[in-house]
Amino acid sequence: MTDHITAPHPSQPSAENSDSPARPGLSRRRLLQGTAAMGGLLAFGTAVSASTAPAFAATVSRPDIISAESWGATAPSGSLSRIDRRPGHLVIHHTTHENASDFSDEAAREVARLIQRNHKTNGWADTGQQFTVARGGQMLEGRQGSLTAVVDGTRFIEGAHAYGFNDQSVGIEVDGMYMSDLPTDAQWDSLVHLSAFICERYGIDVDNIIAHRDAPGAQTLCCGDAFYAKLPALRKEVRSALAHGVDAGPGTSRDYPTVRRGDEGDAVRRVQVTLTGIGHQPGAADGVYGQATEQAVREYQSAIGTGVDGVVGPRTWGALATHHAAGATVRSGDAGTEVEYLQRGLKASDGADLATDGIFGEQTQAAVKGFQSSRSLTSDGIAGPNTWGALKSAR
Ligand SMILES: [Zn+2]
Repeated sequence: MTDHITAPHPSQPSAENSDSPARPGLSRRRLLQGTAAMGGLLAFGTAVSASTAPAFAATVSRPDIISAESWGATAPSGSLSRIDRRPGHLVIHHTTHENASDFSDEAAREVARLIQRNHKTNGWADTGQQFTVARGGQMLEGRQGSLTAVVDGTRFIEGAHAYGFNDQSVGIEVDGMYMSDLPTDAQWDSLVHLSAFICERYGIDVDNIIAHRDAPGAQTLCCGDAFYAKLPALRKEVRSALAHGVDAGPGTSRDYPTVRRGDEGDAVRRVQVTLTGIGHQPGAADGVYGQATEQAVREYQSAIGTGVDGVVGPRTWGALATHHAAGATVRSGDAGTEVEYLQRGLKASDGADLATDGIFGEQTQAAVKGFQSSRSLTSDGIAGPNTWGALKSAR
């Protein structure tokens, strides 16, 4: 068995690998490399000692990762093992699924559900890998708890993606089969962003981004020959992202400039990717705001019931940034994905000076109150149906 062709992760045994100690065969050289990687985290400006949760990353904006809860994960069938230290490696996989041409959010969610079903059938407690990048570029949480863990940056949920190496690494499954084809452009961009974010949060040395085939003891062609040849390019782009920041998605205020016909750049591309995910047809995610993109923006604005002008300004950005939110009522003291969506929406629509850290503190409460007053809503600082409605409908 040399690849994932017949089933996801056939190179792994059927038993969950969570509780196994470091694989006896793990070489001393690897262990030393791991130690070097930990030393390397000192080179990152935002990384601090593992005993303290780092401040929100300054350079790499938090990617828009769809939580397992949001894509409809079923409960793990057994207990998941949390490791209270940082992983030293990031392992890249391909799923070997057919290269689908449905780039929608729904297709991404379905892939996440399919993987979970398959991996549970393998006898694993939950999805094997920590994260997934779908064909449309959507990033999704895999093994439950992984999103919260990486944001915290001091721990990880042990996966089942690289046998014998699961207690040393986190894994990303890039959906598709890449022996001769390559991931889509949207997938590549998301992979760079997600990898940079993971490396920054965990202080993983970029040289320790490896393909599954290069994990100790692995007997697989994963992540496919064509994709494998691109790993040096991936490391180079991640290194650049860590040095210069990533402007790939809603997460910081600079990601929400007003864009219109004739504009070009990452913000335009993010509009295109998001609209495609929602089911509109803005054309290729090429970062060029042409006629098809304008038409798709108009259709979106019409659908959410706001003024239709074909220009993505603060209110339309606010709707896009909160698109994935379920709209649960959140208030001071709450934390989690819904709070983060709320913060993004407030930043995008009101320019609120707010960390998108998913923690509902005083700043978030003040921003909610300000937003509510500006929309003539009851200014109680609690984000309920009316506040979400105003954000998601761009009113
Ligand atoms: Zn693999």
